[in-house]
Amino acid sequence: MSKFPTQLLINGQWLNGSGAKRLAIINPATEETFAEVSAATPDEIGQAVETAQAAFESGWRDMPPGQRAELLHGLAKCIRDNTESIAQLETRNVGKPIGDARWEVDAGAKVFEYYAGAIGHLCGQTIPVARGGFDFTLRQPMGVIAAITPWNFPFLIACWKVAPALAAGNSVVLKPASLTPLTALRLGQLTQEAGLPNGVLQVLPGSGAEAGNALVTHPLVRKIGFTGSTEVGATIMKLAADDIKRVSLELGGKSPNIVFADADWQRAAAESPMSVFANTGQDCCARSRMFIEQPIFDDFVDHFVAATEALKIGNPTDDTTQVGPMVCASQRELSESFVNEARNEGRNIRTGGDRPDGNGFYLNPAVITGSETGDRAWREEIFGPVVCLRPFTDEGEMLQEVNDTNFGLSGTVWSKDLNRALRVARQVESGVISVNSHSSVHTEAPFGGFKRSGLGRDLGMSAMEACTEVKNIYVGE
Ligand code: NAP
Repeated sequence: MSKFPTQLLINGQWLNGSGAKRLAIINPATEETFAEVSAATPDEIGQAVETAQAAFESGWRDMPPGQRAELLHGLAKCIRDNTESIAQLETRNVGKPIGDARWEVDAGAKVFEYYAGAIGHLCGQTIPVARGGFDFTLRQPMGVIAAITPWNFPFLIACWKVAPALAAGNSVVLKPASLTPLTALRLGQLTQEAGLPNGVLQVLPGSGAEAGNALVTHPLVRKIGFTGSTEVGATIMKLAADDIKRVSLELGGKSPNIVFADADWQRAAAESPMSVFANTGQDCCARSRMFIEQPIFDDFVDHFVAATEALKIGNPTDDTTQVGPMVCASQRELSESFVNEARNEGRNIRTGGDRPDGNGFYLNPAVITGSETGDRAWREEIFGPVVCLRPFTDEGEMLQEVNDTNFGLSGTVWSKDLNRALRVARQVESGVISVNSHSSVHTEAPFGGFKRSGLGRDLGMSAMEACTEVKNIYVGE
């Protein structure tokens, strides 16, 4: 085996996939293939689900909660003890700056710590029913949960899905994105080191259309926890419909960044580039539509462009790099198509949108002004380093434009007038909104979207409760 696992993890065994297909793993900073990973066949998915069901029934479901918590705390410690090697692997596979990758691993460990603690707080209710007697609820685990994850935060999102599901007493089959399976496999390896029973977490890379489809439709899978595109999310919801499987969907976004003239707008202009260009724009929360109040528009754009041009773009293994390459050639081409279309429509590309010299899927962050509200770059999720800024004069009209989208994931409002900021925050149709901050993800708080941005919530107690069924028990007098 290489320094990191590249096989399928089924029932505690590392197995070469029986299929002919292998996934080529490419370093986005060099464009070199540095590993090959087994791709699960539908049969192997079936085998993993059956093993997960057996692990659920034969001990994990009924393990005393304190013992389960101890195992998950142990897993968090294993993650922390291996932070550097996991972060280096994530950087090599995704192209994200090493500082961001270290943050991601730390955040993943925190997720396991949080849910290990939450096990003791997963409570039912006692209910005073009208006819007397004694009525109470239990929160019971579901069984096998399928976790299907994207390529932009492969380690962290795997932790978001796996930790609450395991904490609630379910077993999990995890299918990571084909482009970036390495740190999910590493997570599987760490569950072994931490002493979790075999079969409780199985990790099977494989294509979405084959392995993903087989997982979603397997009759023993009770719930699908999915993060990815809105299109695939809709497909999964349809596939889950016949068996009324539970689904949690964290999908795309086109989030607003609203700056009023009374805000500390110099601070907003300095901080906002990283609200859209962090992770090279490959972030569901990217604030890619900016609404700037007219009186400050020109000055704000100048500051924003200067702050963007000051970002350090380059080798992701360098500690000081802020923006790395995109994950693959086709994602870069997709982003470029939005910039080219804007240019052809006569919009103003204030900076970026071009490729720096050399290897790697790099794209200089692009800032566009002059967009119309019907432009594709203004309306569609780009999932790359491209942002559009438009001025506004009237709060009500601006809010109508903000909500004139099928998405509703995240966003920011900047104003020193807290009443105004909260009034606007209440009216923005999104699952998460920040005031005078770009921070929108907190382990302890629910995270998810309105409209086509998703269904259900990751993180917080909501995610753990969504991995249980509520059972009502009545005891007669
Ligand atoms: P994607 O193409 O939807 O893929 C996500 C996962 O679904 C991958 O593991 C993929 O496998 C799998 N898949 C594809 N087709 C499937 C099918 N028919 N059945 C079952 N699984 C299937 O998304 P992506 O390109 O990896 O990620 C980018 C998207 O994720 C963006 O839209 C972004 O906004 C969204 N995202 C949302 C959040 C959030 O929390 N709201 C967070 C991060 C990302 P393959 O890799 O083999 O195709």
